[in-house]
Amino acid sequence: MGTSDPRRAIPGVDRLLERPWCRELTRSRGRAWVAARLRDLLEEVRAGGLPVPDSDEGYAALLRSAVARAETRSLRRVINATGVVLHTNLGRAPLAEEARAAMAAAAGYGTVEFDLGTGRRGSRYDHCVELVRELTGAAEGVVVNNGAGAVALALTSLAAGRGVAVSHGEMVEIGGGFRIPEVVGAAGAELVTVGTTNRTRRGDYARAIEGGGIGAILKVHRSNFAISGFTGETELAELVALGAESGTPVIHDLGSGLMIESAALGLPPEPTPADSVVAGVDLVAFSGDKLLGGPQAGVLAGTPDAVGRAKRHPLCRALRCDKVTLAGLGATLSLYRDPDRARERIPVLRMLGAPREQLSRRAGAVLAKAREAVGAAARAGGPEGDRAEDAPRAEVADGWSLVGGGTFPDARLPSAVIRVRAGEDVDAWQAALRAHDPPVVARSRKGEVVLDLRAVDPGEDEVLAAALGSVFARFLRRGGAP
Ligand SMILES: *Cc1c(COP(=O)(O)O)cnc(C)c1O
Repeated sequence: MGTSDPRRAIPGVDRLLERPWCRELTRSRGRAWVAARLRDLLEEVRAGGLPVPDSDEGYAALLRSAVARAETRSLRRVINATGVVLHTNLGRAPLAEEARAAMAAAAGYGTVEFDLGTGRRGSRYDHCVELVRELTGAAEGVVVNNGAGAVALALTSLAAGRGVAVSHGEMVEIGGGFRIPEVVGAAGAELVTVGTTNRTRRGDYARAIEGGGIGAILKVHRSNFAISGFTGETELAELVALGAESGTPVIHDLGSGLMIESAALGLPPEPTPADSVVAGVDLVAFSGDKLLGGPQAGVLAGTPDAVGRAKRHPLCRALRCDKVTLAGLGATLSLYRDPDRARERIPVLRMLGAPREQLSRRAGAVLAKAREAVGAAARAGGPEGDRAEDAPRAEVADGWSLVGGGTFPDARLPSAVIRVRAGEDVDAWQAALRAHDPPVVARSRKGEVVLDLRAVDPGEDEVLAAALGSVFARFLRRGGAP
């Protein structure tokens, strides 16, 4: 190290901690935490990973950005430009304004387990149940933490220690490690597979029941895959009849919880919880955050006897949901009292129903705004100015969106997308979009970045255009990968 080495001038942590700008931070974050950030920073500077700041202000700026980095929350809002409406990795259903407001209001004290009429203790399990009854036609219901929990609770409370008859064609994995054979095992029941992969008849179930020891029949909706060809399955109503003859309860694992006619969304037929109730099942299980469009929750609807057994089981307590969830689910369900209003107000339904022309208009406007943002930088004399003609090639084109969330595996919704030709730099483009604040998550396809507006709230179009514009500008500044 020569005498002119600037690293010799690096101050110590204790000296920096006494600076006024540092004291401000230590007051709000604690001295030990700020000292640790400073130690890490100075170590990086000494190792040559960061340039040595040449002023006090330089150190202040370094520390402030290190603090901002350390305080970035891990759970961040993102713009979902993937075109997958129920994107499980991005939190599935975005909630209706009504649900968001109800959840914020429920965050304080509330009548979670309190009866205002009597002043006595009430039951957490009463919330949302009136709505579940109304909307499904079931006599009883109970709400738990998620769909998987609802299925596990149904199996445990009705069939623990006994056999569960399931068709070979329904030995499915839902995703995230939720596999029917394992769930039945975890519920303390024994899996009894009946029929074959492509065809399972009523007689197959009947033989299993005659063999003895069957505690429940489980029918699993094939929500995330399709089989075709020489196939056949036993209708729910037939299983219910068989169950009634033999005294065996029937559980329907339905999955998505669509509460309106799928045709109204331009989607192929999909059973609703009300269909299962009409068929006469003892329990139907469905999710709150798939096609229902509410917060993460699981609902069991069915007969008073079966729901009563589920509610009395100790597992129910372990799966109970939070007051904020109950408030959000209740607000979402109440929108379904008027199906037209539900389609307008529940984002998942609104997004699924958006026609291609509307998405195309929005995509055109977003792209124009993004180009304008680059043009504005040019007029202000930015370095992008002279090279505006080198702007990345982007256009609006027809595309396809997906429903997602393990539902409608074959359905492709006609959409309009912004395609950016990125060639070799697709990864860099996507990374730049993700690095924006708020981050934008897009798809890629053969050298193109594809932004689909279907799952973008129209209120976010401006923000999306700004993000795209800033990545365009970066691209021009660097003359290549953004
Ligand atoms: C999604 C799904 C589940 C699990 O529901 P979660 O709410 O994700 O826990 C269970 N069964 C079926 C058929 C599903 O589609």
